[in-house]
Amino acid sequence: MKKSINPYNQREEYQFKELNITEIEDKLNLAAETFIKWRKTNFQDRAKFMYKAAEELKKHKQEYAEVITKEMGKPISQAISEVEKCAWVCEYYAEHAASQLKDEIIDTDAEESYVSLEPIGVLLAVMPWNYPFWQVFRFAAPALMAGNIGVLKHASNTMKSGELIQQVFNRAGFPEGCFQNLIIGSDKIEGIIKNDHIKAVTLTGSKPAGSSVASIAGKSIKKSVLELGGSNALVVFNDADLEMAVQTCVNARFQNTGQSCIAGKRLLLQKEIAEEFTNKFKTQVSQLKSGDPMDKDTYIGVMAKEDLAKELEDQINTSIAMGAKLVLGGKRRGTFFEPTVLTQVTKEMPVFKEETFGPAIGITIFDNEEEAVSLVNSSIFGLGVSIFTKDIQKAKRLVPQFDDGAVFVNELVKSDPRLPFGGTKISGYGRELSSHGIMEFINKKTVYIK
Ligand code: NAP
Repeated sequence: MKKSINPYNQREEYQFKELNITEIEDKLNLAAETFIKWRKTNFQDRAKFMYKAAEELKKHKQEYAEVITKEMGKPISQAISEVEKCAWVCEYYAEHAASQLKDEIIDTDAEESYVSLEPIGVLLAVMPWNYPFWQVFRFAAPALMAGNIGVLKHASNTMKSGELIQQVFNRAGFPEGCFQNLIIGSDKIEGIIKNDHIKAVTLTGSKPAGSSVASIAGKSIKKSVLELGGSNALVVFNDADLEMAVQTCVNARFQNTGQSCIAGKRLLLQKEIAEEFTNKFKTQVSQLKSGDPMDKDTYIGVMAKEDLAKELEDQINTSIAMGAKLVLGGKRRGTFFEPTVLTQVTKEMPVFKEETFGPAIGITIFDNEEEAVSLVNSSIFGLGVSIFTKDIQKAKRLVPQFDDGAVFVNELVKSDPRLPFGGTKISGYGRELSSHGIMEFINKKTVYIK
């Protein structure tokens, strides 16, 4: 039996019966049968269902948001925003999939030659708890619009969210079997990936999970897309608009109680503005409202699991023992973690070189552009970097020097249906969202007519 335990009050919220092997096989068979019909539908028909899914999300956003908050402790106002963003990605692909996947005509010696962009079949999505709706919709909306089929293995603490997402697609009128939620543990994933009906897998989560899933898929010659962890840098130059940069950096690190892959986790400040920036930053962080995640004014909720809160505590304590200075917060009570700021952080400390998945940030000072770039690129992660400067020419000159999957100038790194999203190095490979995302699970079929 699987359970969702509310991380704010430890109440048991939901129970689920795990699927047995026969039930899993039945669902995969249904998915494969549905694909045969679904691939023949046209973009207009798929779009009608996808717009309905967006309507359903908007209409019931409060109800869905409450489940998100109960399962993983995200403040309710941020959970509502998450559901609204899911509606946006549904609308985006409903509108754009047809043009993104239209035939690409290529002039050759043939009478006619083109690339036909076609679905590949049933896709397995292994998803995390931190944005329990968004991570799934950003996979499912392009997959279904492309004519593929989705089966979901959600994180074990957000299984109710998985059930509700299936309900969204059912209520929107998608044929049964287009999208199915599987109540299973991760021990069942290997068998599912090896099943002939599964054509590819996408995983959003940690490196160990990604590495395991990609190895299994690789052995079966099946494609994988990995969206893994990150340790984004926020780089503030002397010539930045400091008020704006402080506000943006606070949001970049502390929204979703710091549990975001693309959160700014390393704050790099140029020497001349470091003291002023640190004081302003500390003041703003100390004013963030912590409390009951169900309260609409709460900004810092609780962490999703106590073991993750303990892990963060260890990273902070080890960094302090190595010479970092605690200037704010640092204390943990169960799943609640005080918003925490450390200064004098060096490259060797856990808060710099590891991913910190909670409301804590380390500050490191740099002298010049070259040092800033070197500090950013010294990370084993490569999701994104934010740089703050009024000199846009300088920013553009720096962009190609970063190894990451995204560079945002004077803005926090964020996902947007119109822009590709994904990482380099151990942050993974492949892209989600935009026309790049929908292309990941497509058979680019060459057609040559003499
Ligand atoms: P996680 O432990 O890797 O879990 C993610 C999913 O993988 C869950 O469904 C989990 O199932 C499953 N899983 C865990 N171990 C597995 C294994 N050995 N084989 C197959 N599946 C396995 O990650 P998390 O703690 O939920 O999420 C936090 C991590 O995700 C952070 O590193 C964060 O940066 C990353 N993340 C990345 C992105 C991105 O877009 N790049 C977005 C969000 C989060 P169970 O729950 O049943 O174990």
